[in-house]
Amino acid sequence: MLSHLIPADDPVRGMLLRRQLLGHLTYLMFLVPVLPALWWGWLHTDAIGVAALFTVGIVINVTYFLLIRTGMTRRLKDPALLQPQIYTALVMALAVIHATDEARGVMLMLFVSLQLFGLFGLSRRQFKVLALAIISGYAGLVALEFWWLRPREGALREEMLRLLALAMITVWMAFVCSQIVGMRRALARRKWELKLALARLEESAARDELTGLHNRRHLMSLLGNELARAARCEAPFSVALIDLDFFKQVNDRHGHQVGDELLQGFSTFAQGQLRALDRVGILADEPTVGRYGGEEFLLILPHTEHESALACVERLRASVASHAIATSAGPLGTSFSAGVAQYEPGESIASLLRRADTALYRAKHDGRNRAYGTVDSAQPLGSNT
Ligand code: GH3
Ligand code: MG
Ligand code: MG
Repeated sequence: MLSHLIPADDPVRGMLLRRQLLGHLTYLMFLVPVLPALWWGWLHTDAIGVAALFTVGIVINVTYFLLIRTGMTRRLKDPALLQPQIYTALVMALAVIHATDEARGVMLMLFVSLQLFGLFGLSRRQFKVLALAIISGYAGLVALEFWWLRPREGALREEMLRLLALAMITVWMAFVCSQIVGMRRALARRKWELKLALARLEESAARDELTGLHNRRHLMSLLGNELARAARCEAPFSVALIDLDFFKQVNDRHGHQVGDELLQGFSTFAQGQLRALDRVGILADEPTVGRYGGEEFLLILPHTEHESALACVERLRASVASHAIATSAGPLGTSFSAGVAQYEPGESIASLLRRADTALYRAKHDGRNRAYGTVDSAQPLGSNT
Protein backbone atom coordinates (compact mmCIF):
# COMPACT_ATOMS: atom_id res chain seq x y z
CA MET A 1 0.00 0.00 0.00
CA LEU A 2 2.74 2.42 1.08
CA SER A 3 4.84 1.44 -1.92
CA HIS A 4 1.99 2.63 -4.21
CA LEU A 5 1.75 5.95 -2.44
CA ILE A 6 5.47 6.64 -2.38
CA PRO A 7 7.42 6.30 -5.64
CA ALA A 8 10.51 4.15 -5.28
CA ASP A 9 12.28 5.72 -8.28
CA ASP A 10 12.33 9.25 -6.86
CA PRO A 11 14.01 9.26 -3.43
CA VAL A 12 13.62 13.02 -2.86
CA ARG A 13 9.88 13.02 -3.59
CA GLY A 14 9.60 9.81 -1.55
CA MET A 15 11.13 11.60 1.43
CA LEU A 16 8.76 14.58 1.06
CA LEU A 17 5.78 12.23 0.88
CA ARG A 18 6.86 10.30 3.95
CA ARG A 19 7.04 13.60 5.83
CA GLN A 20 3.62 14.43 4.48
CA LEU A 21 2.24 11.20 5.94
CA LEU A 22 3.78 12.24 9.24
CA GLY A 23 1.71 15.43 8.89
CA HIS A 24 -1.45 13.28 8.58
CA LEU A 25 -0.39 11.40 11.69
CA THR A 26 0.11 14.70 13.51
CA TYR A 27 -3.48 15.67 12.68
CA LEU A 28 -4.70 12.35 14.06
CA MET A 29 -2.52 12.96 17.10
CA PHE A 30 -4.43 16.22 17.68
CA LEU A 31 -7.52 14.05 18.10
CA VAL A 32 -6.07 12.35 21.19
CA PRO A 33 -6.64 15.30 23.57
CA VAL A 34 -9.67 16.58 21.62
CA LEU A 35 -11.79 13.41 22.01
CA PRO A 36 -11.73 13.20 25.82
CA ALA A 37 -12.30 16.98 25.99
CA LEU A 38 -15.36 16.46 23.78
CA TRP A 39 -16.52 13.54 25.96
CA TRP A 40 -16.24 15.58 29.15
CA GLY A 41 -18.04 18.52 27.63
CA TRP A 42 -15.08 20.88 27.64
CA LEU A 43 -15.57 21.87 24.02
CA HIS A 44 -17.88 24.55 22.63
CA THR A 45 -18.80 22.20 19.82
CA ASP A 46 -20.29 18.73 19.40
CA ALA A 47 -19.02 15.55 17.71
CA ILE A 48 -20.22 16.82 14.31
CA GLY A 49 -18.22 20.02 14.73
CA VAL A 50 -15.08 18.04 15.64
CA ALA A 51 -15.64 15.61 12.74
CA ALA A 52 -16.14 18.53 10.33
CA LEU A 53 -12.98 20.25 11.54
CA PHE A 54 -10.83 17.15 11.16
CA THR A 55 -12.39 16.26 7.82
CA VAL A 56 -11.44 19.70 6.50
CA GLY A 57 -7.90 19.17 7.85
CA ILE A 58 -7.51 15.73 6.29
CA VAL A 59 -8.97 16.85 2.93
CA ILE A 60 -6.55 19.77 2.77
CA ASN A 61 -3.70 17.47 3.75
CA VAL A 62 -4.65 14.84 1.15
CA THR A 63 -4.72 17.64 -1.46
CA TYR A 64 -1.20 18.64 -0.46
CA PHE A 65 -0.17 14.99 -0.68
CA LEU A 66 -1.58 14.65 -4.21
CA LEU A 67 0.10 17.88 -5.34
CA ILE A 68 3.46 16.53 -4.17
CA ARG A 69 2.79 12.96 -5.39
CA THR A 70 1.94 14.08 -8.94
CA GLY A 71 5.17 16.08 -9.12
CA MET A 72 3.31 19.38 -9.64
CA THR A 73 5.30 21.02 -6.85
CA ARG A 74 8.66 19.79 -8.11
CA ARG A 75 9.68 23.10 -9.62
CA LEU A 76 8.53 25.21 -6.67
CA LYS A 77 10.98 26.76 -4.23
CA ASP A 78 9.18 24.84 -1.47
CA PRO A 79 8.34 21.49 -3.19
CA ALA A 80 7.25 19.96 0.14
CA LEU A 81 4.67 22.78 0.54
CA LEU A 82 6.01 22.97 4.08
CA GLN A 83 4.96 26.57 4.74
CA PRO A 84 1.40 26.24 3.40
CA GLN A 85 1.01 23.05 5.41
CA ILE A 86 2.28 24.59 8.63
CA TYR A 87 0.06 27.64 8.25
CA THR A 88 -2.97 25.44 7.46
CA ALA A 89 -2.25 23.50 10.65
CA LEU A 90 -1.90 26.81 12.52
CA VAL A 91 -5.41 27.84 11.46
CA MET A 92 -6.70 24.38 12.40
CA ALA A 93 -5.00 24.56 15.79
CA LEU A 94 -6.57 28.01 16.40
CA ALA A 95 -9.98 26.54 15.54
CA VAL A 96 -9.47 23.61 17.96
CA ILE A 97 -8.26 26.00 20.68
CA HIS A 98 -11.22 28.28 20.05
CA ALA A 99 -13.52 25.30 20.58
CA THR A 100 -11.95 24.38 23.93
CA ASP A 101 -12.65 25.92 27.24
CA GLU A 102 -11.20 24.28 30.36
CA ALA A 103 -8.65 22.28 28.33
CA ARG A 104 -7.29 25.33 26.52
CA GLY A 105 -3.91 25.35 28.32
CA VAL A 106 -3.22 21.79 27.12
CA MET A 107 -4.34 22.53 23.57
CA LEU A 108 -1.77 25.31 23.27
CA MET A 109 0.81 22.55 23.03
CA LEU A 110 -0.41 21.97 19.47
CA PHE A 111 1.62 25.00 18.43
CA VAL A 112 4.85 23.33 19.58
CA SER A 113 4.30 20.50 17.07
CA LEU A 114 4.01 23.12 14.30
CA GLN A 115 7.40 24.55 15.14
CA LEU A 116 8.96 21.09 15.37
CA PHE A 117 7.50 20.23 11.97
CA GLY A 118 9.26 23.33 10.66
CA LEU A 119 12.58 21.60 11.34
CA PHE A 120 11.96 19.77 8.05
CA GLY A 121 12.97 22.87 6.14
CA LEU A 122 12.13 26.29 7.53
CA SER A 123 14.87 28.89 7.53
CA ARG A 124 15.79 30.93 10.62
CA ARG A 125 13.78 33.86 9.30
CA GLN A 126 10.79 31.64 8.60
CA PHE A 127 10.96 30.34 12.20
CA LYS A 128 10.80 33.93 13.46
CA VAL A 129 7.83 34.69 11.21
CA LEU A 130 6.09 31.48 12.36
CA ALA A 131 6.64 32.38 16.03
CA LEU A 132 5.18 35.81 15.36
CA ALA A 133 2.22 34.24 13.53
CA ILE A 134 1.55 31.82 16.41
CA ILE A 135 1.68 34.55 19.07
CA SER A 136 -0.33 37.10 17.09
CA GLY A 137 -2.74 34.34 15.93
CA TYR A 138 -3.50 33.37 19.50
CA ALA A 139 -3.60 37.01 20.68
CA GLY A 140 -6.01 37.78 17.82
CA LEU A 141 -8.21 34.85 18.78
CA VAL A 142 -8.31 35.95 22.41
CA ALA A 143 -9.12 39.51 21.39
CA LEU A 144 -11.91 38.30 19.11
CA GLU A 145 -13.36 36.08 21.79
CA PHE A 146 -13.28 38.74 24.49
CA TRP A 147 -14.45 41.80 22.70
CA TRP A 148 -16.81 40.43 20.07
CA LEU A 149 -17.91 36.90 20.74
CA ARG A 150 -18.13 36.04 24.42
CA PRO A 151 -17.12 38.88 26.63
CA ARG A 152 -16.52 37.34 30.05
CA GLU A 153 -15.46 39.14 33.18
CA GLY A 154 -12.43 37.96 35.14
CA ALA A 155 -11.03 35.51 32.62
CA LEU A 156 -8.89 38.13 30.89
CA ARG A 157 -6.02 37.82 33.38
CA GLU A 158 -6.04 34.05 33.00
CA GLU A 159 -5.92 34.45 29.23
CA MET A 160 -3.10 37.00 29.49
CA LEU A 161 -1.10 34.51 31.54
CA ARG A 162 -1.62 31.84 28.87
CA LEU A 163 -0.63 34.26 26.14
CA LEU A 164 2.50 35.20 28.05
CA ALA A 165 3.45 31.56 28.62
CA LEU A 166 2.72 30.76 24.96
CA ALA A 167 4.83 33.72 23.79
CA MET A 168 7.74 32.60 25.99
CA ILE A 169 7.69 28.98 24.85
CA THR A 170 7.14 29.94 21.19
CA VAL A 171 10.04 32.39 21.15
CA TRP A 172 12.22 29.87 22.97
CA MET A 173 11.27 27.12 20.51
CA ALA A 174 11.96 29.45 17.56
CA PHE A 175 15.40 30.16 19.00
CA VAL A 176 16.21 26.46 19.57
CA CYS A 177 14.90 25.46 16.12
CA SER A 178 16.97 28.25 14.50
CA GLN A 179 20.05 26.94 16.30
CA ILE A 180 19.35 23.41 15.02
CA VAL A 181 18.85 24.76 11.48
CA GLY A 182 22.16 26.67 11.77
CA MET A 183 23.96 23.53 12.91
CA ARG A 184 22.41 21.50 10.12
CA ARG A 185 23.37 24.12 7.53
CA ALA A 186 26.96 24.16 8.79
CA LEU A 187 27.08 20.38 8.62
CA ALA A 188 25.62 20.35 5.11
CA ARG A 189 28.12 23.01 4.03
CA ARG A 190 31.02 21.03 5.47
CA LYS A 191 29.77 17.88 3.74
CA TRP A 192 29.55 19.76 0.45
CA GLU A 193 33.06 21.23 0.87
CA LEU A 194 34.42 17.76 1.65
CA LYS A 195 32.70 16.35 -1.41
CA LEU A 196 34.19 19.13 -3.57
CA ALA A 197 37.66 18.60 -2.09
CA LEU A 198 37.38 14.87 -2.70
CA ALA A 199 36.27 15.43 -6.30
CA ARG A 200 39.20 17.83 -6.82
CA LEU A 201 41.58 15.33 -5.29
CA GLU A 202 40.25 12.51 -7.46
CA GLU A 203 40.51 14.75 -10.52
CA SER A 204 44.10 15.76 -9.79
CA ALA A 205 45.04 12.16 -8.93
CA ALA A 206 43.82 11.16 -12.39
CA ARG A 207 45.67 13.92 -14.28
CA ASP A 208 49.22 14.27 -15.48
CA GLU A 209 50.69 17.42 -13.99
CA LEU A 210 52.58 18.63 -17.05
CA THR A 211 50.06 18.07 -19.82
CA GLY A 212 46.76 17.97 -17.92
CA LEU A 213 45.91 14.74 -19.74
CA HIS A 214 44.82 11.55 -17.96
CA ASN A 215 47.81 9.93 -16.29
CA ARG A 216 48.94 6.35 -16.68
CA ARG A 217 47.19 5.13 -13.53
CA HIS A 218 43.87 6.56 -14.69
CA LEU A 219 44.42 5.29 -18.22
CA MET A 220 44.80 1.77 -16.82
CA SER A 221 41.56 2.08 -14.90
CA LEU A 222 39.79 3.42 -18.01
CA LEU A 223 41.18 0.46 -19.94
CA GLY A 224 39.78 -1.83 -17.24
CA ASN A 225 36.34 -0.22 -17.70
CA GLU A 226 36.62 -0.59 -21.46
CA LEU A 227 37.54 -4.25 -21.09
CA ALA A 228 34.52 -4.85 -18.85
CA ARG A 229 32.26 -3.06 -21.33
CA ALA A 230 33.68 -5.08 -24.23
CA ALA A 231 33.01 -8.30 -22.32
CA ARG A 232 29.49 -7.18 -21.40
CA CYS A 233 28.28 -5.86 -24.75
CA GLU A 234 30.73 -7.56 -27.09
CA ALA A 235 31.63 -4.06 -28.34
CA PRO A 236 35.02 -3.64 -30.00
CA PHE A 237 37.59 -1.11 -28.87
CA SER A 238 41.11 -0.23 -29.94
CA VAL A 239 44.14 1.44 -28.46
CA ALA A 240 47.08 3.29 -29.96
CA LEU A 241 50.48 3.78 -28.37
CA ILE A 242 51.96 7.03 -29.61
CA ASP A 243 55.64 7.94 -29.17
CA LEU A 244 57.12 11.28 -30.23
CA ASP A 245 60.01 10.88 -32.66
CA PHE A 246 63.52 11.97 -31.75
CA PHE A 247 62.28 13.77 -28.72
CA LYS A 248 65.59 13.48 -26.93
CA GLN A 249 67.07 15.77 -29.59
CA VAL A 250 64.61 18.52 -28.63
CA ASN A 251 65.82 18.34 -25.05
CA ASP A 252 69.44 18.23 -26.16
CA ARG A 253 69.12 21.13 -28.57
CA HIS A 254 66.72 23.48 -26.78
CA GLY A 255 66.74 22.33 -23.18
CA HIS A 256 64.34 20.42 -20.97
CA GLN A 257 62.03 23.42 -20.51
CA VAL A 258 61.36 23.65 -24.25
CA GLY A 259 60.90 19.86 -24.30
CA ASP A 260 58.20 20.30 -21.65
CA GLU A 261 56.55 23.04 -23.69
CA LEU A 262 56.55 20.77 -26.75
CA LEU A 263 54.88 17.99 -24.73
CA GLN A 264 52.24 20.44 -23.55
CA GLY A 265 51.72 21.90 -27.02
CA PHE A 266 51.46 18.44 -28.55
CA SER A 267 48.91 17.38 -25.93
CA THR A 268 46.69 20.38 -26.54
CA PHE A 269 46.95 20.05 -30.32
CA ALA A 270 46.27 16.30 -30.31
CA GLN A 271 43.24 16.75 -28.05
CA GLY A 272 41.85 19.41 -30.37
CA GLN A 273 42.39 17.21 -33.43
CA LEU A 274 40.71 14.23 -31.77
CA ARG A 275 37.75 16.37 -30.74
CA ALA A 276 37.46 17.58 -34.33
CA LEU A 277 37.56 13.98 -35.64
CA ASP A 278 34.90 13.04 -33.10
CA ARG A 279 32.74 16.02 -34.09
CA VAL A 280 32.72 15.16 -37.77
CA GLY A 281 31.66 11.62 -36.94
CA ILE A 282 34.88 9.88 -37.96
CA LEU A 283 34.90 8.17 -34.58
CA ALA A 284 32.15 5.98 -33.18
CA ASP A 285 32.64 7.28 -29.66
CA GLU A 286 34.57 9.97 -27.81
CA PRO A 287 38.26 8.96 -27.69
CA THR A 288 40.46 9.34 -24.62
CA VAL A 289 44.07 10.39 -24.81
CA GLY A 290 46.44 10.22 -21.86
CA ARG A 291 50.11 10.44 -21.07
CA TYR A 292 51.41 6.91 -20.79
CA GLY A 293 54.84 8.10 -19.65
CA GLY A 294 57.67 10.41 -20.83
CA GLU A 295 56.93 11.28 -24.49
CA GLU A 296 54.56 8.34 -24.90
CA PHE A 297 50.81 8.71 -25.11
CA LEU A 298 47.97 6.21 -25.13
CA LEU A 299 44.80 6.65 -27.12
CA ILE A 300 41.70 4.64 -26.21
CA LEU A 301 39.09 4.40 -28.94
CA PRO A 302 35.82 2.91 -27.69
CA HIS A 303 33.50 1.13 -30.16
CA THR A 304 36.22 1.33 -32.79
CA GLU A 305 37.60 -1.51 -34.86
CA HIS A 306 41.19 -1.85 -35.95
CA GLU A 307 40.77 -0.32 -39.40
CA SER A 308 38.94 2.80 -38.22
CA ALA A 309 41.35 3.20 -35.32
CA LEU A 310 44.30 3.06 -37.67
CA ALA A 311 42.65 5.58 -40.02
CA CYS A 312 41.99 7.92 -37.10
CA VAL A 313 45.57 7.70 -35.80
CA GLU A 314 46.86 8.20 -39.34
CA ARG A 315 44.86 11.42 -39.65
CA LEU A 316 46.22 12.58 -36.33
CA ARG A 317 49.75 11.69 -37.42
CA ALA A 318 49.39 13.66 -40.65
CA SER A 319 48.06 16.75 -38.90
CA VAL A 320 50.76 16.65 -36.20
CA ALA A 321 53.50 16.22 -38.83
CA SER A 322 52.28 19.26 -40.76
CA HIS A 323 51.86 21.49 -37.75
CA ALA A 324 54.51 23.49 -35.88
CA ILE A 325 54.10 23.77 -32.11
CA ALA A 326 54.79 27.13 -30.51
CA THR A 327 57.51 27.07 -27.85
CA SER A 328 59.72 29.71 -26.23
CA ALA A 329 62.42 28.61 -28.72
CA GLY A 330 60.03 29.37 -31.58
CA PRO A 331 57.72 27.06 -33.53
CA LEU A 332 58.99 23.46 -33.53
CA GLY A 333 57.89 20.72 -35.89
CA THR A 334 57.40 17.26 -34.45
CA SER A 335 56.09 13.85 -35.46
CA PHE A 336 55.14 10.61 -33.82
CA SER A 337 55.10 6.93 -34.51
CA ALA A 338 52.17 4.82 -33.39
CA GLY A 339 51.13 1.22 -32.93
CA VAL A 340 47.42 0.41 -33.10
CA ALA A 341 45.75 -2.73 -31.74
CA GLN A 342 42.15 -3.84 -31.44
CA TYR A 343 41.15 -5.66 -28.29
CA GLU A 344 40.72 -9.37 -28.82
CA PRO A 345 38.05 -11.01 -26.68
CA GLY A 346 39.57 -12.68 -23.63
CA GLU A 347 43.01 -11.09 -23.82
CA SER A 348 44.52 -9.10 -20.97
CA ILE A 349 45.31 -5.38 -20.97
CA ALA A 350 49.01 -6.24 -20.83
CA SER A 351 48.71 -8.39 -23.94
CA LEU A 352 46.75 -5.67 -25.81
CA LEU A 353 49.38 -3.05 -24.94
CA ARG A 354 52.17 -5.45 -25.84
CA ARG A 355 50.71 -5.93 -29.32
CA ALA A 356 50.33 -2.14 -29.77
CA ASP A 357 53.92 -1.69 -28.58
CA THR A 358 55.20 -4.27 -31.07
CA ALA A 359 53.48 -2.35 -33.90
CA LEU A 360 54.96 0.89 -32.56
CA TYR A 361 58.40 -0.70 -32.48
CA ARG A 362 58.03 -1.68 -36.14
CA ALA A 363 56.92 1.85 -37.04
CA LYS A 364 60.03 3.24 -35.35
CA HIS A 365 62.19 0.62 -36.99
CA ASP A 366 60.80 1.41 -40.45
CA GLY A 367 61.80 5.06 -40.17
CA ARG A 368 59.35 6.76 -37.75
CA ASN A 369 56.50 9.23 -38.45
CA ARG A 370 54.10 6.41 -39.28
CA ALA A 371 51.20 4.49 -37.76
CA TYR A 372 51.19 0.71 -37.91
CA GLY A 373 48.46 -1.68 -37.05
CA THR A 374 48.60 -5.26 -35.88
CA VAL A 375 46.34 -6.90 -38.43
CA ASP A 376 47.83 -6.52 -41.86
CA SER A 377 51.47 -5.82 -41.28
CA ALA A 378 52.30 -6.37 -44.95
CA GLN A 379 50.52 -3.17 -45.96
CA PRO A 380 50.87 -0.77 -43.09
CA LEU A 381 48.91 2.44 -43.25
CA GLY A 382 50.52 5.75 -42.58
CA SER A 383 53.91 5.28 -44.12
CA ASN A 384 55.31 8.65 -45.08
CA THR A 385 57.73 7.11 -47.46
P1 GH3 B 1 62.50 7.81 -30.67
O1 GH3 B 1 62.14 8.43 -31.96
O2 GH3 B 1 63.20 6.50 -30.83
O3 GH3 B 1 61.34 7.69 -29.75
O4 GH3 B 1 63.54 8.77 -30.01
P2 GH3 B 1 63.37 9.60 -28.72
O5 GH3 B 1 64.52 10.53 -28.61
O6 GH3 B 1 62.03 10.22 -28.67
O7 GH3 B 1 63.38 8.47 -27.64
P3 GH3 B 1 64.13 8.24 -26.30
O8 GH3 B 1 63.33 7.22 -25.57
O9 GH3 B 1 65.57 7.93 -26.54
O10 GH3 B 1 64.04 9.61 -25.56
C1 GH3 B 1 62.90 10.04 -24.93
C2 GH3 B 1 63.28 11.29 -24.21
O11 GH3 B 1 62.15 11.94 -23.68
C3 GH3 B 1 64.21 11.04 -23.08
C4 GH3 B 1 63.71 11.90 -21.95
O12 GH3 B 1 64.70 12.76 -21.48
C5 GH3 B 1 62.64 12.70 -22.59
N1 GH3 B 1 61.54 12.97 -21.66
C6 GH3 B 1 60.78 12.06 -21.03
N2 GH3 B 1 59.89 12.69 -20.24
C7 GH3 B 1 60.14 14.04 -20.38
C8 GH3 B 1 59.54 15.21 -19.81
O13 GH3 B 1 58.60 15.15 -19.02
N3 GH3 B 1 60.02 16.40 -20.20
C9 GH3 B 1 61.04 16.51 -21.08
N4 GH3 B 1 61.46 17.71 -21.43
N5 GH3 B 1 61.63 15.43 -21.62
C10 GH3 B 1 61.18 14.20 -21.28
MG1 MG C 1 59.79 6.73 -25.84
MG1 MG D 1 60.33 8.96 -28.63
